[in-house]
Amino acid sequence: MTDAPDIATRRDMLLTDIGKLAAEAGRPSDSIKLVAVSKRQSEERLDAALAAGQRVFGENRVQEAMAHWGERRKVWSDLELRLIGPLQSNKAADAVALFDVIETLDRPKLADALRREMDRQGRRPRLYVQVNTGAETQKAGVLVSELPAFLTRMRDEFGFEISGLMCIPPVEQPPGLHFALLARLAADNGIGHLSMGMSADYPVAVALGATSVRIGTGLFGDREV
Ligand SMILES: *Cc1c(COP(=O)(O)O)cnc(C)c1O
Repeated sequence: MTDAPDIATRRDMLLTDIGKLAAEAGRPSDSIKLVAVSKRQSEERLDAALAAGQRVFGENRVQEAMAHWGERRKVWSDLELRLIGPLQSNKAADAVALFDVIETLDRPKLADALRREMDRQGRRPRLYVQVNTGAETQKAGVLVSELPAFLTRMRDEFGFEISGLMCIPPVEQPPGLHFALLARLAADNGIGHLSMGMSADYPVAVALGATSVRIGTGLFGDREV
């Protein structure tokens, strides 16, 4: 529990900073959500974040997310859980059951699995499309050139209302180029939410229109290996 005061303090500082950056960008100070990325963090740290008032959490693996939040979710009924890592179609059932937002929709096969699970379970997680803004071969996400057709297909074939776009810029490039591109793609396609920015680059993301930032180490400290 020795981390608990740190996490509460860092959360306060992050919220203050995000509010200030939002105001500088001419946006309401509460218009940007802090998503606490809890992957590979200890149980004690998760509980410290909850005690500090944090309710929105991001995870990048379904199994780990179930271990972290399956029981806690029953106690904390106002949690919002977001999947921010790649999703395999065969995990769609667990993902639909657990998450409130799935940020990594990027292919029709996954859309098909999600559609069937959403119908079966009667749950409707909000969906974001991950965009591979750097066209990196090893990275998930829809290519920029394929995004309009993909969004059309999501709507017409699967009946999905896409509420946001998400990106992870290439590590070796200035992130602002990618955040600005994602913001333009969202505007062009009438999409309201932008998940962009992590511990190292969230100020740039907020300045360029992020509606949620995904902060792991900057809130919790270093991850366990
Ligand atoms: C791990 C992760 C984060 C958080 O990264 P930090 O640098 O620890 O803030 C954000 N987004 C995604 C997709 C991640 O996998």
